[in-house]
Amino acid sequence: MSIFKNDILKGKIALVTGASRGIGRAISVELSKAGAHVILVSRTLSLLRETEEAISSSGGWAKALSADVASINDVSKVFNFIEREFGYLNILVNSAGISPHYTSFHKAPLEDWKEIINTNIFGTFNCCKLAFPLLSKCSSSSIINISSIGGVIGLPRVAIYTASKGAIVTFTKAISIEWAPYNIRVNAICPGFIETDMTKGLSSKSELKEQVISRIPMGRFGKPEEVAKAAVFLASDGASYITGHCLIIDGGWTAG
Ligand code: NAP
Repeated sequence: MSIFKNDILKGKIALVTGASRGIGRAISVELSKAGAHVILVSRTLSLLRETEEAISSSGGWAKALSADVASINDVSKVFNFIEREFGYLNILVNSAGISPHYTSFHKAPLEDWKEIINTNIFGTFNCCKLAFPLLSKCSSSSIINISSIGGVIGLPRVAIYTASKGAIVTFTKAISIEWAPYNIRVNAICPGFIETDMTKGLSSKSELKEQVISRIPMGRFGKPEEVAKAAVFLASDGASYITGHCLIIDGGWTAG
């Protein structure tokens, strides 16, 4: 009998960046529950090992590899590992991302712009570029880029972050067209406010948190697992005709 709750991704090879915490970690766990072998990437090996342990103690397979997605050299080492071990890749999830500041654009230091752009945009570009030869070896494969509602609407005090996430939405659409002939589906998920370390600073200020919650029709932040289950769907054959799509998961924030 299968140890997995379902087998919709049985035997698939997946790479998840930002897998040590938050949304990336939840996606890694859900992909594993669906039967995928998961390669876990972020900079902090100790935390990645916790995700690895959570997956292997539930009977899944995971491998933690430390890498900075903004570094093409680091990312190359990850893909060299996948090439050597498996020779192909079915699923790439780009969840690594940062949003270091809640401040007005004119006050944000230039160094911070670069860090956000290097991680959120170049990190995704690096992984997509190096994944292409391995993804295109499969009869069907899938990329899921984690953008944000900030990629489709303006969010004040995170202007550079929203610019980086907007870039991910249009990049996703562009390469979905370019790579459709290679049977690579490319989609994005645009989460609203999700309970992770990224929103901890906001959550700790109760007045600010109340203001945010008052804008969410469902009246609460989302949970990482609620994003992760959608990622499993997009990675699966159930989404076989879905490409170039940006799935908003925001409790209704952008509906009005
Ligand atoms: P999080 O809890 O802060 O986790 C971020 C993850 O990205 C960590 O695993 C972190 O690990 C990794 N990371 C950051 N910079 C990296 C780098 N240069 N190289 C490799 N890994 C890196 O954030 P989260 O909320 O899960 O966010 C995940 C994604 O969802 C991000 O792209 C974020 O923009 C997006 N998002 C989040 C929300 C939200 O409300 N939480 C809403 C919309 C979109 P290390 O620090 O160990 O490297």
